[in-house]
Amino acid sequence: ARLLSSAAGVDDRLVEGALRPQMLAEFVGQQVVREQLSLVLDAAKARGSVPDHILLSGPPGLGKTTLAMIVAHELNQPLRVTSGPAIQHAGDLAAVLSSLTEGEVLFVDEIHRVARPAEEMLYVAMEDFRVDVVVGKGPGATAIPLDLPPFTLVGATTRAGMLPGPLRDRFGFTGHLDFYAPEELEQVLRRSAELLGVELTPEAAVEISGRSRGTPRIANRLLRRVRDWAQVRGDGTLDLTAARAALEVYAVDARGLDRLDRSVLEALCRRFGGGPVGLSTLAVAVGEEPETVETVSEPFLVREGLLGRTPRGRIATPATWEHLGLAAPAGFAW
Ligand code: ADP
Repeated sequence: ARLLSSAAGVDDRLVEGALRPQMLAEFVGQQVVREQLSLVLDAAKARGSVPDHILLSGPPGLGKTTLAMIVAHELNQPLRVTSGPAIQHAGDLAAVLSSLTEGEVLFVDEIHRVARPAEEMLYVAMEDFRVDVVVGKGPGATAIPLDLPPFTLVGATTRAGMLPGPLRDRFGFTGHLDFYAPEELEQVLRRSAELLGVELTPEAAVEISGRSRGTPRIANRLLRRVRDWAQVRGDGTLDLTAARAALEVYAVDARGLDRLDRSVLEALCRRFGGGPVGLSTLAVAVGEEPETVETVSEPFLVREGLLGRTPRGRIATPATWEHLGLAAPAGFAW
């Protein structure tokens, strides 16, 4: 069921690691972000200083973690990885910050989920490279300032709009990652096939990329499923027959919509008559968190014209009804 989900499972994470580009030059697509980032990094290297803090935003699976690793790699610095949900208390953050070495890159995934009490500490650390460690409790508590070595924070978020203003302001550079064009995904697939040591025909690459939801993580995952099919049922070559057969086995639809995408659209049309319906109501209907629906499913559906967002809620578009093979109710206004 998670085949198409852009959240990675454990096994997939291992293979994913092997397929990650290590240098900016190997990173496919996202030309604007790549160029801006390379300027930031080159300038810092030329000055012999640490670069400004970097914020990366965009839907899951588009390369935020990969870019954070590339930043560390390009700067020849170690990378420390943590995430917003892991930082629930100021102490969690203080522990990470106080152990950073000079120039180190600190990656905070899902930075919009850093808990409030730690936020203030993060501001000071980012701006002044200082952390105030509180010793003791109650009226006797004292804050001991601790200087930190200069470091670079790379924050990733699926919801740039959710970041508090003061946090957003402390990033010197923000890169927004967008869905990949089919040709770019084909390039990702060719590169991955080569790394996996399998033969991928151009037609198969087109077929897989068209169903990958504009997302490299999904493209790589589908590639592995086609490889399974080719090895077990075919002659080992990843050709159009293997691609079509494998995608059929895994019920990947022609536009690459996954289970969650389809349940969102089904609920919207079948239960709510095409809307408008509020995000939380829709999320409850498909048994997911509103945040998951909003960050994982919606951006792609909206881009594909399969979902409309209005002030009154989410609505079906003519394309939604068509995609589900349903007739829009009489008088349904778009
Ligand atoms: P995010 O952090 O945005 O969820 P990741 O950086 O984990 O996404 O990317 C998921 C996978 O997709 C990586 O393992 C990598 O192999 C692949 N990938 C992402 N972006 C690119 C790219 N631009 N070029 C090649 N592979 C990529």
